[in-house]
Amino acid sequence: MPDSPSDAPALLLSGARLADGRVVDVRISGARIEAVGTAGSLRAGGRRLDLRGHLLLPAPAEPHAHPGTALTAGGPASHRAEDVRRRTTEAALLQLSHGATALRAHVRVGEDQGLGALEAVLDAARSLRGLTDLTAVAVPRILTGVAGADDLARLRDAVEMGAGVIGGCPDLDPDPAGYVETVLDLAATHDRPVDLHTDGDDPARLDGLAAMARGFRPGVCLGPCAGLSRLPDEVAVRTADRLASAAVTVVCLPQGPCSGSSSRATSPVRLLRAAGVRVAAGSGALRDGSNPVGRGDPLEAAYLLASQHGLTPRQAYDAVSATARAALGLPGVHVEAGFPAELLAVRGDGLAGALSLAYSRIVVHRGRVVARTSAVREYRDSGAASGLDLPRQGRVDSGHGGGP
Ligand SMILES: [Zn+2]
Repeated sequence: MPDSPSDAPALLLSGARLADGRVVDVRISGARIEAVGTAGSLRAGGRRLDLRGHLLLPAPAEPHAHPGTALTAGGPASHRAEDVRRRTTEAALLQLSHGATALRAHVRVGEDQGLGALEAVLDAARSLRGLTDLTAVAVPRILTGVAGADDLARLRDAVEMGAGVIGGCPDLDPDPAGYVETVLDLAATHDRPVDLHTDGDDPARLDGLAAMARGFRPGVCLGPCAGLSRLPDEVAVRTADRLASAAVTVVCLPQGPCSGSSSRATSPVRLLRAAGVRVAAGSGALRDGSNPVGRGDPLEAAYLLASQHGLTPRQAYDAVSATARAALGLPGVHVEAGFPAELLAVRGDGLAGALSLAYSRIVVHRGRVVARTSAVREYRDSGAASGLDLPRQGRVDSGHGGGP
């Protein structure tokens, strides 16, 4: 797979349905959408992909992954560089097959791991270029006082090495406010965004963080903030107001806790949204000790936001696509001329059906088809079924019976 996005051959996606119901042709040139027209109106300059029976969506992005521990459930989490590199690659490819064409990966630095895990993740990111965009968040443990000196030095090294984002968990430091201040200082010096872990059950701490983050231009994300859901509503609303006015994005994890967090709750998504907080949803743990059944599937996160948190399918999908991309500092995607060709096609004809069930998926990254999954279901030809007027075989996905 060539590195340069611009050498992707022209691609015509024909007969795709958009979320607004229109059925269109989409011509892609290089890494961008060149034209969108009514179905049958555009000529293929190169390859053509028949997307009749598919819904075409802006691709999701994964704002909160833990590749260092991914796929270690049931076994020891080896920290050997080659194991971390392999697991990072496998996890990123799995998440790509689900539709996430960009991924933010939290990676521990300092302590006994030094910079080995980060180096392995950055290696994997380089070898995945052209397939998916992986950015590493450096996650130090203690940053303040004498005990924090080593990790602070490692964190500086991590940024030099190519960690694109500065992260960590202020709750674990003896001086959480000092920790946040240190991270923001370093991020400002290097013009990097900040992405911190917190349970969010200490309103005073969150208020302080919001005050420090206000006006920080590269952007501040906070997650998973499950503890906010345990606060009395009036306290949570006040805290949400402060996060909103500081333009802090909350990355919630509807599928369960991530490493380092044990809370199974999800942050109060509707309360945060009502206060004007930008809420993106990530997957968190992918089959590791904190969630052995984690799927890493953005559509499942969106499904849970719709089924458990009262978001409409559109709002739920935005949390894993448009808002997740914005949280990662990526340009927006609309299925319109001029936008990046970061797309996900799923079988079906509507967003609700796609969030209900979407096994079959086609993923486009930088103008190329990079992953394809298809599922077929067959029913046994038995006496019981023979009297029923039902298809015996068809695509597994909802919204459609058979179809092309
Ligand atoms: Zn996490």
